[in-house]
Amino acid sequence: MTLPRIPFGKPFIVGKELFYIAQAVMSSSIAGDGVYSRKCQQWLEEHLGSPKALLTHSCTAALEMAAILADIGPGDEVIMPSFTFVSTANAFVLRGGVPVFIDIRPDTLNLDETLVEAAITPRTKAVVAVHYAGQPCAMEALKDICQRHGLLLIEDAAQAILAQSEGRSLGAIGDLGCLSFHETKNIICGEGGALLVNNPALIERAEVIWQKGTNRKAFFRGEVDKYTWVDIGSSFLPSELSAAFLFAQLEQAKRINAHRRALYGKYLSLLEPLAEQGMFGLPLSPGNRPENGHIFYLLCRTAEQRTALIAHLQQHNIAAVFHYVPLHDSPAGQRFARTAGALPVTESLATRLLRLPLYSEMTMEQVRRVCLAIQSFYQASR
Ligand SMILES: *Cc1c(COP(=O)(O)O)cnc(C)c1O
Repeated sequence: MTLPRIPFGKPFIVGKELFYIAQAVMSSSIAGDGVYSRKCQQWLEEHLGSPKALLTHSCTAALEMAAILADIGPGDEVIMPSFTFVSTANAFVLRGGVPVFIDIRPDTLNLDETLVEAAITPRTKAVVAVHYAGQPCAMEALKDICQRHGLLLIEDAAQAILAQSEGRSLGAIGDLGCLSFHETKNIICGEGGALLVNNPALIERAEVIWQKGTNRKAFFRGEVDKYTWVDIGSSFLPSELSAAFLFAQLEQAKRINAHRRALYGKYLSLLEPLAEQGMFGLPLSPGNRPENGHIFYLLCRTAEQRTALIAHLQQHNIAAVFHYVPLHDSPAGQRFARTAGALPVTESLATRLLRLPLYSEMTMEQVRRVCLAIQSFYQASR
């Protein structure tokens, strides 16, 4: 008998999404910057502690806004990890910038803050802190470096909603923070994101860039008497349909994250015995910092073992996947970016990291089934 398939991930609704969408449709406008967009922005400002949140149609769009706000021009350099999603780098390349990749830490898989200063050149304009799996980068150290060198600190907090570092929400600590509500993330609306503008000096320009380069926001507030084109920008707003869906999810965000953390805890406790026998490595979170249960991963001993384990789980009708192809190894990365120093941790981990199923409607019983299948793999291969 084959057991039902355990997918790697699965979009979900929490309850009021369709109701809020119906309300949006019956109101006067479903364009962007309406009632639900404002509700979402207010929620983000209050719960994450940022002075200004702007909803976007993706985290990719929020990163592209950040690149404009950082005044990135041809040849300007931006320090970031190679172990990240494409958009982290691509947003800056669109402006002619050059991503400069440094290695990651083996515990959090986040950029290694001790390598940042050596990568700084006269062309460096910004550092992007990617909070992998919702685990915080060393924000205090990064803030200190950016302040001393006059660099903008941008957080790619796509995976980090409601995760914290020393009591502060990720995404709300650097000058700018970028969030994702893509259906693969913890809180979703299909495609969606937000830019948190934490540095007050950037707020006014951020609103202009967000509204296609116009002063529409200031016009509607009565601050200027003409609505006109004042700067570069684009259409970065999501429609009210997405915002209405998102607001229903945000209202339940803490509950969603609590369940994911519980699933994550179950994985940890069931897999620790095998990890102690040296079969694979588990995520290490320094100082027991709370995280949001975004990703659960194993570090297999070798790439071959990872391939064999994926096939074994597949036979048990369980989907497990890996990422990322390090950006410095990708065709576009080689063309548009460069590395600073060797990236041995990135190169080793990228061939051994395996992500296990983790989604909002997953049950403890399903986590147990995945762990039993993993145990049977290591028993058979012993
Ligand atoms: C998902 C993700 C993005 C892109 O988010 P979208 O909303 O799909 O544009 C960017 N960076 C990281 C680290 C991500 O995980």
